[in-house]
Amino acid sequence: MYEDADRLLAEREERLEAELAELTRPPGEVGTISFGKRVGEGTSMAVDRLAAVSAQEHLLAMLDEVRRARRRVADGTYGACEVCGEPIPEGRLEARPWATRCVAHS
Ligand SMILES: [Zn+2]
Repeated sequence: MYEDADRLLAEREERLEAELAELTRPPGEVGTISFGKRVGEGTSMAVDRLAAVSAQEHLLAMLDEVRRARRRVADGTYGACEVCGEPIPEGRLEARPWATRCVAHS
């Protein structure tokens, strides 16, 4: 019944992992930048790094959610809210296949 969900989740997991790998790839140019001369650039780099860190945290949280949902597919509890056990509405699962909680408990 939830084979499609597992396939969707597997694809999602793969994409998130690729995005994370892209994000955490060490930048090759860092060694050649002079921080002394152009303060403006250094500042914007720091901001970029902060943005990257928060993007990474976001991706990791998403990945965690997807993996939890996949475990629930594996143990047969997928589609039921992990708090109240009520079925998660189909429309919600379609929009967020990684949802592990009903609307009331999300
Ligand atoms: Zn619930």
